[in-house]
Amino acid sequence: MRRLTDPSVETTGNDERAECPYCESTNTEREHPKGPSLCRSMHYCHNCNQPFEKFE
Ligand SMILES: [Zn+2]
Repeated sequence: MRRLTDPSVETTGNDERAECPYCESTNTEREHPKGPSLCRSMHYCHNCNQPFEKFE
């Protein structure tokens, strides 16, 4: 797992960025889950415009 610091990415304290499994981009946004899914989180990739789940 890489931890690259992109200087163009603002660090607003929201460190919930997940890596997109499709394009490996970290230009993603965490979405609120629709149900009580405690072991996974929903994310949305702005790079390939696809939602994906991240299991934790
Ligand atoms: Zn993507």
